[in-house]
Amino acid sequence: MSREDELREKPSAARFDRRRFLQLVGGLAGAAAFSQLRPDLAGAAPSLGEYPFNLGVASGDPLPNGVVLWTRLAPRIFEPDGGMPGTRIPVGWRIAKDEDMRQVVRRGSVVALPELAHSVHVDIHGLQPGREYFYQFDYRDETSPVGRTRTAPQPGATVDSLAFAFASCQDWSHGYYSAYRRMAEEELDFVVHLGDYLYEYGIDANGGFRNVPVPDQFRPNCTTLGRYRLQHSLFKSDPDLQRAHGLFPWMIVWDDHEVENDYAGLTPAFGEQNPEFTARRAFAYQAFYEHIPLRVSAFPGFDDLRIYRRFTWGDLAELSLLDTRQYRSNQACGDGEFPRCEESLDPSVTMLGEKQERWLMQGLGSSSSRWNVIAQQVLMAQLDHNRGDPRIYWHDAWDGYPLARQRLVDGLLRRRVRNPVVITGDWHSTFVSDIKQDFSDPGSATVATEFAGTSISSNGDGVVYGPYYGPMIPANPHIKFFDGDRRGYVRCRLDAESWRTDLRMVSTVSRADAPVETFASFVVEDGRPGAIRA
Ligand code: FE
Ligand code: CA
Repeated sequence: MSREDELREKPSAARFDRRRFLQLVGGLAGAAAFSQLRPDLAGAAPSLGEYPFNLGVASGDPLPNGVVLWTRLAPRIFEPDGGMPGTRIPVGWRIAKDEDMRQVVRRGSVVALPELAHSVHVDIHGLQPGREYFYQFDYRDETSPVGRTRTAPQPGATVDSLAFAFASCQDWSHGYYSAYRRMAEEELDFVVHLGDYLYEYGIDANGGFRNVPVPDQFRPNCTTLGRYRLQHSLFKSDPDLQRAHGLFPWMIVWDDHEVENDYAGLTPAFGEQNPEFTARRAFAYQAFYEHIPLRVSAFPGFDDLRIYRRFTWGDLAELSLLDTRQYRSNQACGDGEFPRCEESLDPSVTMLGEKQERWLMQGLGSSSSRWNVIAQQVLMAQLDHNRGDPRIYWHDAWDGYPLARQRLVDGLLRRRVRNPVVITGDWHSTFVSDIKQDFSDPGSATVATEFAGTSISSNGDGVVYGPYYGPMIPANPHIKFFDGDRRGYVRCRLDAESWRTDLRMVSTVSRADAPVETFASFVVEDGRPGAIRA
């Protein structure tokens, strides 16, 4: 971060703590009930003059009886407040069994707060498990697009099959979201996003590789709440991203760029912990919350936003979504590529933090699901960059946290976790790997399978990482597949017998309508960790 990005907002503005939030939400519930009793109050709502649903609609975090519905009122997306007045605005919502919104099963009204950028999160309960629903928001005479979503099946219920896609790394300025356009054509139960949903970098006047005009307020890197909100608005303005959100419920976790490249806990990438970075992280977490369909119930405040959480899909799958950023130790001896240093072998070095690590292992140990998905950010498999002595690792990934990784691997074995599959983002490359009990012994047990998916758009088109990482792969025999040059998403289809992964690659991100192909497919058989090329 350079000094010209200096904070314009004081660190004290970050103290949007739990008490304050609950006061607001408490006020919300009352206000919502009030406006339902007095429809004339909603009628008195001010005209916004322009269409307010420019950022689309979304749903997320599906449970057997409910889902979170999201939108944000923003008549003018290139203004930090979205062009909204600084007042509380009532917004109506409806959820129906049919696309035409005739068989409405629940409806209500919530109040969008200026303190939360007039974002709307409706945590719906009382729905039926394992079925499709449609939803819509309204404000005065304006209605949002109709979104489609789905509830999870009843816990333990027999589920024959599941199809989902996972994605990561969508730098808006690196290209179009052709991958999302193609994802929207798939039949999926849900989408998992593994982070770098946002990039914090300033956008040039030509919108990077998109070659569209972007106004001056996007030039600086994101450091303030207003600037992070603008960036989310810009990314969210993409119609293909909106379409994919409007068709499936998403489960979203962040990686580093939602705040700053390669940060760790409260330590910025460069330098020591400091009040500016603490404030910046809280701004970034708040803007993330405001633009993502996250459930409010786990909300402890923006200094400390808990996003690790678990979902089950009947008896077939359980997903543990991890946060490998907020609780990790600072990268021992720096973030780059170098031989392993003494400090990284300290047992106190942690990737998940003690509490999340315990939560993960207890959950995996008590799971009764056939497939146990660990959805997380950074590459778990070892990647030796040097083909021998001394081994060289990238220290921001699990390679920089070797004992924490070993604890996880040993825990999977000790607890006899059924069919563990790790899904990963971050690298803008595809890796299919065996997670080994001991990575330096190719003969040791394969404990789990890892699919690291490429980016939606980050790194753009062309040959990018292949020439650099490609030659390292043969020295890492547990890595079964690598591609560093293609953009896309990963489709996973599973049933009781097997898990099939299709690497869905688009031909280009230089335009939104590029075709997609299945570049390669892999199968994991029930009871046999490790991927087999299909
Ligand atoms: Fe990325
Ligand atoms: Ca990343």
